[in-house]
Amino acid sequence: MKRLSAADPNRVAIIVRAWRRRFAAAEATGRARPGYEVYINKTRRKNGGMPPGHVHFTIGAAILLILLIPIGLRDDRIYKHGALIVAIGGVWGYAPDFYRLTSIEALEKLHYSPWADLFALHYSMDRTGLGDGWWTIVSFSLFFASVAAFQLSAWFVARDREPTQRAVESD
Ligand SMILES: [Zn+2]
Repeated sequence: MKRLSAADPNRVAIIVRAWRRRFAAAEATGRARPGYEVYINKTRRKNGGMPPGHVHFTIGAAILLILLIPIGLRDDRIYKHGALIVAIGGVWGYAPDFYRLTSIEALEKLHYSPWADLFALHYSMDRTGLGDGWWTIVSFSLFFASVAAFQLSAWFVARDREPTQRAVESD
């Protein structure tokens, strides 16, 4: 058989014919085009079982809010920065996933190494295999619970402080 070179029009025709056959077969069975399907499956496999970004964001924010409550009980200035704490905690938890938006290889290596656990247990969360739906329920519940705990502790601290303040003012 004659060997085909890259520029050989016969070679191109053979490839085009093969693809047409695959598309025709796929369309006949009502499935998506093979090329598209291969791409989607590859993407799914790559992200398989990993919780979506908002889950890392809400868990990071929840952990930081909870960690700062004991500090707030000693120094109530912390309670003035709730929104900032949520933003910083969220970005902290999400940070390893920034490799998806950039082409920084070091960041991707970090994401797939246990060191990513330093970012709100990102590595372990990615490996639980828990579905998106469950992760969303768990993370949003923890997030709202942590916001409530943070706000309640702020109210208790403010309430406990009031009598002494009033005493100081009446002196
Ligand atoms: Zn991730």
